[in-house]
Amino acid sequence: MLEVLICGAGPVGSFFANLMEQFGHTYRIIDSEPIEARLGQSRALLLTARTLEVMEDRDIAREILSRALLSRGIRLHSDTKQLTEVEMSGLDSTFHHMTTLPQWRIEEILHKRLSKKVERPVKLISYVQESDHVVAKLQHGDDTDNIEEVKAKFLIGADGVHSTVRKGTPGWNFDGVVINSPSVLADVTFTGDKLPDFRYFNFIDSKNGALILIPIPDNSGEKIITRMVVSLGALSETKDNEGKVSQGIKNDAPPTLEELQTLIDQRCGYFNMKAVNPQWIAKFGINERRANGFRRGRCFVMGDAAHCHSPAGGQGLNLGFQDANNLAWKISSVLKNTAENPEVLLDSYYEERYPIIDTTINGTGRMGRSVFQRTIFSSFMRSLVLPMALTIPSIHDKVGFTIQQLWITIPTSSALLAEKSASSIIEPGKYMPDSCTLNPKDIVNLPPQTIKSIFKKTDRYIALLVWNHAGDDDASAGFWNLLQTYKRFVRPIVVESKNYIGRYRVPQYARNNADGTNGFWCDTRGRLAELLGIEDNRAGIILVRPDMYVAFSESYDGQNEIPLESFERHLSSQVKSD
Ligand SMILES: Cc1cc2nc3c(=O)[nH]c(=O)nc-3n(C[C@H](O)[C@H](O)[C@H](O)COP(=O)(O)OP(=O)(O)OC[C@H]3O[C@@H](n4cnc5c(N)ncnc54)[C@H](O)[C@@H]3O)c2cc1C
Repeated sequence: MLEVLICGAGPVGSFFANLMEQFGHTYRIIDSEPIEARLGQSRALLLTARTLEVMEDRDIAREILSRALLSRGIRLHSDTKQLTEVEMSGLDSTFHHMTTLPQWRIEEILHKRLSKKVERPVKLISYVQESDHVVAKLQHGDDTDNIEEVKAKFLIGADGVHSTVRKGTPGWNFDGVVINSPSVLADVTFTGDKLPDFRYFNFIDSKNGALILIPIPDNSGEKIITRMVVSLGALSETKDNEGKVSQGIKNDAPPTLEELQTLIDQRCGYFNMKAVNPQWIAKFGINERRANGFRRGRCFVMGDAAHCHSPAGGQGLNLGFQDANNLAWKISSVLKNTAENPEVLLDSYYEERYPIIDTTINGTGRMGRSVFQRTIFSSFMRSLVLPMALTIPSIHDKVGFTIQQLWITIPTSSALLAEKSASSIIEPGKYMPDSCTLNPKDIVNLPPQTIKSIFKKTDRYIALLVWNHAGDDDASAGFWNLLQTYKRFVRPIVVESKNYIGRYRVPQYARNNADGTNGFWCDTRGRLAELLGIEDNRAGIILVRPDMYVAFSESYDGQNEIPLESFERHLSSQVKSD
């Protein structure tokens, strides 16, 4: 039987398919639209630092970055002058820049990496859940007689705001708020004798309304053009509990280039610019909605099918990618029968994602309203309070940190995390940071690597033992041997740090072991231990989930044998032993 049926080959479903492929599962991915419907529509375009970190963990980031445009940060202007700027260069991430790539390009990259083609136009029309599988009805093309029944262990609804998967289960709702004023976006080239600095995103707060300008690569990928966003009309909103979803591109005619130019002239402040060569102009509506649960039995929703909100801040697509990253390893673990408690694991998807999504929707909602509202108070906040606040380094840094989603951690309430203890080092729930390069003990066969490149594309938990003093061979062997009973879903790694006396050789006890070759590393400068918070003369054990969030951490004085009881207790509550 097919393991996973993915409904929707937008960016989120396509990323999920890539993850299923990396984890070695059978999948099909279908989309109701022919590919031509998406080509050239830039739609979402900001990739946050956290998304790029996730993509790097999955070995996809480089391909995205090779086509993307990197810019320095954000500048805010009034009618008459530049008010302030936020630079991204100080971000604590490998990806300390604003990164833009039109959504259809991202989809193209994700599709090309799949060994199976996206099946289109193939539409999910309905499904029924059985105890151990889902039976889905698919319509091929426009032919209502061309119906196929597919059985799959899991059904993934990455099918956008109008999700058939979500609507297919009674009571699976998508309530929220409709923002009544439509917005316009256009991908254009600007000419003129006084242009903003397009190494930045530029936000112009004129008395006639806001104008947002974002540098992006054009459709050919060769030139830099600009995504402009303007909102039309005064802000108002209506509650909707009847599923009248109006998020997305509107069918009514978008403004002409001349009409756009009038809007630009009214709002461009002290710049003098003319929009030419439009590649795409669209009107779009904004809703703020959340599904009441992201799981019903063997069916899941993710991305826009689960939540939608204002594109202000460019978070939507990024949230969707991170939904996929959160759920994929859980589904994989259940399919591989390595989860100690499959129900808890699958339920944790909603429990871990909802608080992050809720915070984001509230934050982007506030941001969208404050950008587009025309009240005296909001104007005062934008023109005086915000520029002053941004002169304070901690506030300046927090803006970049927030936009780039580096704040995202797994909520500590998650059943998958160990409680923080007095001896915790890097806290459970935090995203695993990258280190400087480590040398392999198997020096002949492997090059030096950073800790995250050692982890890359993992489909297992990583159990990391890091010594910050002379490693005790017996204790390392105890750790290694314990993990042999969990090896189907946990990969052990030992890093020896300062004061180490030894040789570049894999220890005898791990030489004939599949994980032995790349399981032993040296960090004589002790930088990894420092990064993880392991003090001098101590050792630490960190359990990292396949999505790279820390699940357990503890440090030990390490002079004696390491007590493994609490580590094993946590491990055995999550993962089946052989
Ligand atoms: C104009 C615009 C600008 C935006 N700007 C930004 C931005 O700057 N930053 C940002 O982060 N986000 C932005 N967004 C939001 C972003 O585009 C979405 O969050 C993102 O596309 C969500 O991806 P998804 O894969 O979840 O859904 P979608 O991209 O909607 O993909 C869903 C797919 O499912 C398919 N499908 C639907 N029903 C079925 C069915 N029954 N059977 C089979 N297939 C089906 C559809 O054809 C579609 O291909 C913008 C959106 C719009 C419309």
